[in-house]
Amino acid sequence: MASGQRDPAEFDASRLIVTLVKELQPVPPADEANFGQNMTDHMVFASYDPVEGWSAPEIKPYGPLTLYPASSCFQYATSAFEGMKAYIGPDGDPRLFRPAKNMTRFLRSASRLSLPLFDPDELLKVMKTLLKVERRWIPDQRGHSLYMRPMIVGTRHTIGIVASDRALLWVMCAPIGQYPSIGARPLSLLAVGDAVRAWPGGTGEYKISGNYGPTIGPMQVAHRQGYDQCLWLLGDKVTEAGVMNIFVVLKRDDDSVDLLTPALDGTILPGITRESVLELAAAHPSRTTLPGLSASLHIYPDERDITMGELQTWLAEECLLEVFVVGTAVVVQPVGRIGYKGGDLTLPAPEGGLGPVGKALHQRITDIQYGVFEWDGWSVRCS
Ligand SMILES: *Cc1c(COP(=O)(O)O)cnc(C)c1O
Repeated sequence: MASGQRDPAEFDASRLIVTLVKELQPVPPADEANFGQNMTDHMVFASYDPVEGWSAPEIKPYGPLTLYPASSCFQYATSAFEGMKAYIGPDGDPRLFRPAKNMTRFLRSASRLSLPLFDPDELLKVMKTLLKVERRWIPDQRGHSLYMRPMIVGTRHTIGIVASDRALLWVMCAPIGQYPSIGARPLSLLAVGDAVRAWPGGTGEYKISGNYGPTIGPMQVAHRQGYDQCLWLLGDKVTEAGVMNIFVVLKRDDDSVDLLTPALDGTILPGITRESVLELAAAHPSRTTLPGLSASLHIYPDERDITMGELQTWLAEECLLEVFVVGTAVVVQPVGRIGYKGGDLTLPAPEGGLGPVGKALHQRITDIQYGVFEWDGWSVRCS
């Protein structure tokens, strides 16, 4: 570095500035807290410019932003986000579920868009402080949580398609109740082949805003036809459902089961719930017995292609036991039917809800999230 010049500052949690709102909003009752309807009082906020680098991160009142119309994020969708939830444990402290994984994924998404980078551990430190500030917004009840939405957007204002050397980063929060129909009502999916969510060599594996806007239209079509979500296909291959990863449970001749999900080939968002499901299934029964499952049941997790043709065959041969989708919002939710080529594949829906494998995974993951079951440091306490 030439003398007199300074490196742009890193994102540094030790420089945190906290400015509290003058008047706190009333927290709505937990049973009224609709998904994303009420943002909490405060947000994390920081900005990057090419000379100064990252500003001192702030926790400040949630409020509007002022941006130039020519900002990179508006023109070229240089915008990435994360979705995670905070839960209250038995000790009354907020907890996050494998948050370092969200931070790493967030950094990867920002990097894919050539946005300014940041130290993910430092961001996590600031987010933990935000959770302490917003503690009264985190519902205590099991099934309820505080949704956290980190975002980074490019704010360089020029017409050129160039790397945005300016950015804003923020984290906003909204309390959420029991996700509608969680674990109970099986979802219906409409297999969509004409609109493609992600393709080989594309950006489907990144949580970047540009991947999501174009899915709203096909989703509306699915809703109008009476389905809850789209099942995104690539040719005959099943990729994801809505914004969730998908799993299939198959019965083997010896009564053990296969647990299949599409491999991370670039078209699949590497979900943290997906990874957790695969890891927990692999740990049964050698390291832990999943709730309600026999210790003699062997589960063979596998990441591989799943085609619509195979789903039809497995259904006809009666070896298809369960289909479920997973993600931070729903954790694990059963799929009851799939609309395909004008007809419906009616899937086995044990007692109208999750089958034994899905139920065991839902139970174990939520037990870990709410700090009721300790597992490999997955639940991170913010005290
Ligand atoms: C966020 C997301 C998921 C789920 O990821 P989790 O980390 O489990 O919440 C799955 N698919 C898509 C397309 C997503 O955006």
